[in-house]
Amino acid sequence: MSYLSIKDLSTEIDGKGILNKLNLNIEKGETHVLLGPNASGKSTLLYTLMGFPDYKVKEGSITFDDKDITELEIEDRSKLGIAGVYQNPPAINVKLSKLLEKISDKKVELQGIEGLLDREVNVGFSGGERKLSEVVQVISLDPNFIILDELDAGLDVVNLEKLSNLIKEELSGKTILLITHRGRALKFFEPDYAHVMMDGQIICSSKNWKKIWQTIEEDGYEKCKNCELYTNR
Ligand code: ADP
Ligand code: MG
Repeated sequence: MSYLSIKDLSTEIDGKGILNKLNLNIEKGETHVLLGPNASGKSTLLYTLMGFPDYKVKEGSITFDDKDITELEIEDRSKLGIAGVYQNPPAINVKLSKLLEKISDKKVELQGIEGLLDREVNVGFSGGERKLSEVVQVISLDPNFIILDELDAGLDVVNLEKLSNLIKEELSGKTILLITHRGRALKFFEPDYAHVMMDGQIICSSKNWKKIWQTIEEDGYEKCKNCELYTNR
């Protein structure tokens, strides 16, 4: 059994089916990238993996580190070391330094974070500062498996590279699932696997992420179906 093993997972939100018999396996220490058009269900997969109760599992299972976590509460999943960086984190009236003290004893010293510590989390933060603050929070949790949703959204190329390098350094050896619908982050992360999601299903999985990204750019997501025909897996 893989470190993370998602089997035939179907979910519903407000009675609407989103994930549709999704299968995904990730081995310990691997970095996987999930690509897919808008509304294909990428963020839904993150929320479902984190255990948000609105995302109802109708079918299938999620196993992590040999435990079936399909029915586990959010808090218990965090204790197992599952952590997420969300696309649109909310503003909260707590100083970042206080929040970091609360979530961990581990002190993360990072370039660019000093100026944010004394400010309330996400209040007036720029897109890049928001991402930096989220990534620092996640790093300080010392997680085992990290899901990053649209890390590149709202980040310029230079800051994306900085943040990507930071993640690679601070979370080296950890298991990572990077969700994106742009390809820019791919070349920074050089993932072990890339997956393409459409309509709540993984339609293509391959080690050959360069070929997948080329296919998406040149022919669109639809063309990724039957990827075994062109990626040599
Ligand atoms: P992606 O991240 O790939 O862009 P999402 O997982 O955010 O896609 O959304 C997949 C589909 O689920 C979309 O059609 C979206 O409108 C729907 N959806 C997600 N969350 C909710 C919700 N809370 N209520 C109703 N529909 C939702
Ligand atoms: Mg999304």
